[in-house]
Amino acid sequence: YRFSRRADLGDSIRVSFEFFPPKTDDMETRLWETVTRLQPLHPHFVSVTYGAGGSTRERTARTVARIIRETSLAPAAHLTCIDASREEVDAVIRQFVELGVTRFVALRGDPAAGAGTGYRPHPDGYANGAEMVAALRRQGDFDISVSAYPEKHPESPDFATDIDMLKRKVDNGATRAITQFFFDNDVYERYVERVRRAGIYIPIVPGILPVHNIGQVVNFSARAGAHVPLWLRERFAGLENDPQTHALVAAAVAAEQVHDLVERGVSDFHFYTMNRSDLAFAVCHMIGIRPRNGNGASVAA
Ligand code: FAD
Repeated sequence: YRFSRRADLGDSIRVSFEFFPPKTDDMETRLWETVTRLQPLHPHFVSVTYGAGGSTRERTARTVARIIRETSLAPAAHLTCIDASREEVDAVIRQFVELGVTRFVALRGDPAAGAGTGYRPHPDGYANGAEMVAALRRQGDFDISVSAYPEKHPESPDFATDIDMLKRKVDNGATRAITQFFFDNDVYERYVERVRRAGIYIPIVPGILPVHNIGQVVNFSARAGAHVPLWLRERFAGLENDPQTHALVAAAVAAEQVHDLVERGVSDFHFYTMNRSDLAFAVCHMIGIRPRNGNGASVAA
């Protein structure tokens, strides 16, 4: 592929950033440094993940509330239905709406023991992502993102079943799908073709995971339904104790992936930031997304 040299590239590209709610004061400080650094890039929205269990839920609400209070960013609240009754989920939706949230990422979630450990719907709960979308639509005219799996979800027996779930989510009112991370752009392109053939026309926004720690990504990937190709592992091989070079390689890998997707016509990107700004910021810079003030004028990074 060729690196695009168009100077105005950033004008046609939109990005969003995903954060997770911090558990400690130190993590909170790091998240806010990240939010402060990424805010001038004017993302389309920023999303905050959601975990099962009371305290995790509260942390999501607190983080979203602070984004609304202290920034001009548009927050999207993730929401899962695992281990919760319909009433509980509906109450959480109302709580977010009262905060002023109009964007959601509707998900099923994974059992506490981890992905692939035998999901069972709550007896009085919503069963899957599609039912979550319907629950949200009943409460308002929201912007609703859902998940999509270019390598299919690990629990789906085949692509047809997997894409059928996506279709149900779209029929219930999903606005866009955000993909699980992937590293092989051909896999993404083939998936989008399959999805279009199934009559699904919402944007399938690639989820980009800049590799902050290749060991963690490899461990996590099988459960997530994503494959880490051998060539990628080899690029990071031997850098376990060399964080500086690891970061430089990670920036190159992510920039290469995103540039190639741009060449293939992709214009929206969702970054799994892991609450860190450096890699996401660098990749955005490479595709022409630069800091701007409120009037659209450039500001120094
Ligand atoms: P669904 O869309 O309901 O289903 C996914 C696929 O699994 C479907 O294609 C379907 O075919 C298959 N499937 C579902 N249920 C069954 C079943 N009972 N038997 C067989 N097959 C089945 N998790 C969190 O906990 N919090 C988050 O904030 C969060 N954010 C995410 C954001 C994105 C963009 C993505 C891609 C994932 C996120 N996850 C999050 C992870 C997600 O909860 C897990 O991947 C979970 O396993 C599936 O949730 P879903 O909404 O994708 O499921």
